[in-house]
Amino acid sequence: MRFAEMSSRPSLDFPGAYVVDELDLEQLPRGCCQRLMVDLIHDGLGRSLRLPIMVGRGKHPGPVIGLTAALHGNELNGIPVIHRLFETLDLKVLRGTVVGVIVVNVPAYINNERTFDDRTDMNHVMPGKPDGNIAEIYAYRFIERIVRRFEYLIDLHTASFGNINSLYVRADMTNEITAKMAYLQRPQIILHNSPSDRTLRGTAMELGIPSITVEIGDPQVFQARHIRASLSGVRRVMAEIGMLPRRPVKTGPQPVLCESSGWIYADRGGLLEVLPKPTDLIQANDVIAQQRNIFGEVIGEYRAPHDGIVIGKSVNPVAQTGARILNLGAMASPHKNPFYVRLEDSNPQLENHPLQAPTLENLAVQ
Ligand SMILES: [Zn+2]
Repeated sequence: MRFAEMSSRPSLDFPGAYVVDELDLEQLPRGCCQRLMVDLIHDGLGRSLRLPIMVGRGKHPGPVIGLTAALHGNELNGIPVIHRLFETLDLKVLRGTVVGVIVVNVPAYINNERTFDDRTDMNHVMPGKPDGNIAEIYAYRFIERIVRRFEYLIDLHTASFGNINSLYVRADMTNEITAKMAYLQRPQIILHNSPSDRTLRGTAMELGIPSITVEIGDPQVFQARHIRASLSGVRRVMAEIGMLPRRPVKTGPQPVLCESSGWIYADRGGLLEVLPKPTDLIQANDVIAQQRNIFGEVIGEYRAPHDGIVIGKSVNPVAQTGARILNLGAMASPHKNPFYVRLEDSNPQLENHPLQAPTLENLAVQ
């Protein structure tokens, strides 16, 4: 069957791509990769605003996994993760379907900004409303026309502007499937985080789609090392759910599991220098930042309220009262949390190493 038989038309902007009204995976032939522009809304001139999507449908049936990038428009590291996954996809071997939404928040991407046209954080309005404001309708149609087709979701983000992040995963570690996805991603840090309302991850989880968020370093840049690591993690998840052949993989250091995290904020304005780096371990009462007034005099320092690991930090020296300083993760305490943890971590393919809850005895917190 030719793809052009479905309700689609060739894109004038991107030769080889097709414009469609929604993602209809059943209409796509097996063993093919397709570039789509999915109509979502119209701008104030009446021009169509379309989401660029790649779909790889394997020769064999299997699950549907969705990868989403640039939900915040200046968070770019997820885009080459999707590109490279598709460049190396062998459709004769692939079981099931991979959907890569290369840019979720197109207006913000064009503007080099985090937020939507109306300054809405799109990760706070999911699943949107069919008759809501401009951000809510955009969110609603994105969920209805695209996300509902997924059976698994990996949402790719970075730090926000002015901040840098480690490579870390936010996942519900009390859910066996999302805990596995988090470990297979093999990040530097895993942060247990219940899927919250109005985020893409939370909305997808409510729809029964196991989802994790991967925070891939820093905004508005491509970071080769983090991109490579995230791509390997995506492939490991795909192998785990039967989409790709399992193969032995080199293991890096064990991720540090955190039970919670919180930003520490400046309580005055001035020039801020945050001392530790992402992934640094710090102890309660360690000095984490120094602040100077505009004449260069030190006006204060900030200390860690508890032991933890640096998940992310501010790199913007201009800090007004209430500015973010550092995102401090609290390491998961043994015998306290009902988290799924790796029983044995020498092989990241979990087949022979089932997750075990609630003990954390075998988790080597670094
Ligand atoms: Zn984000």
